[in-house]
Amino acid sequence: MKTALVCGAGGFIGGHLVKRLKREGFWVRGVDLKAHEYAETEADDFVVGDLRDQYFTRSVIDRRFDEVYQLAADMGGAGYIFTGENDADIMHNSATINLNVLDALHKRNVKNVFYSSSACMYPAYNQEDPDNPNCAEDSAYPAAPDSEYGWEKLFSERLYLTYGRNYGMKNRVARYHNIFGPEGTWTGGKEKAPAAMCRKIAQAKSGDTIDMWGDGLQTRSFLFVDECLEGTTRLMRSDFTGPVNIGSEEMVTINQLVDVVADIAGKTIHKNHIPGPVGVRGRNSDNRLIEEKLGWSPSQTLRAGLERTYAWVEQQVMRNAA
Ligand code: NAD
Repeated sequence: MKTALVCGAGGFIGGHLVKRLKREGFWVRGVDLKAHEYAETEADDFVVGDLRDQYFTRSVIDRRFDEVYQLAADMGGAGYIFTGENDADIMHNSATINLNVLDALHKRNVKNVFYSSSACMYPAYNQEDPDNPNCAEDSAYPAAPDSEYGWEKLFSERLYLTYGRNYGMKNRVARYHNIFGPEGTWTGGKEKAPAAMCRKIAQAKSGDTIDMWGDGLQTRSFLFVDECLEGTTRLMRSDFTGPVNIGSEEMVTINQLVDVVADIAGKTIHKNHIPGPVGVRGRNSDNRLIEEKLGWSPSQTLRAGLERTYAWVEQQVMRNAA
């Protein structure tokens, strides 16, 4: 039986990845600071502990795994990563996790390791025009991410690539672009735009006004979690190292995102634009490289993913209100 390790298995993408690997027949160990908040884990072995602790990290990497997915990070939406208030923690925590995990994997001679970087590592100067952002993989340098979260991702993706170069590990690096779906953070300050908008609209009555950070004209693309995992596992099982974008090319303004969710909810929603952390003006995935290297790119519409996400967030809102 093939074995897999998922670091960050108590989180949004890690939780979905464990389910997928189980469906594929793997024996799975999940590791996280906490149990999954919204679903019972399907991991064969789920270890709660802190990957900033190198002794703990070595204890969970006590054997060779066929596939390792390193998704653990100190992360959140704009309200967490763009205010500046959490910068020291974000850099220290995520960098320490990556240093510890790689060192332990190298000592155990583990070869196949996937690392989730982020589109936040792309230079801010290429993302000032909301209609024409440039997020081609080779546009990463000269580096100028707009957040410390992005700088840490850039450092860590380079770290994974060095272990590939110097120690013969077969590391893969993907740059995720706004992944969303059910069973992710939807309240509490670390949620991202799709979940936050679903929550606000689920809590609103038709005709209500919701607050939104910024003018809503900033553009983004959003990828449904199932497609993210399809890209992730395809990359892991390919000969291509990356870094490569895993994201959707269906770019929308945040106003349009709200309109789609309101339409799904069947509610008339007015927008009140208030000052808040918004990040770059425009961002979109560029899928030319993934198409070329893997012969695959995501194809599901934003609306289809939002329908499933809204239904789940609405359920959480109703459950919390009861
Ligand atoms: P998430 O916050 O839901 O999951 C991350 C998990 O890591 C959490 O469960 C958290 O408890 C765990 N973790 C944090 N510190 C830890 C520690 N010291 N020890 C053990 N576990 C620890 O986030 P997610 O959306 O599932 O993202 C997974 C990965 O993908 C992250 O690396 C993130 O930076 C990256 N990413 C996500 C997106 C997105 O849109 N969701 C976009 C770009 C990149």
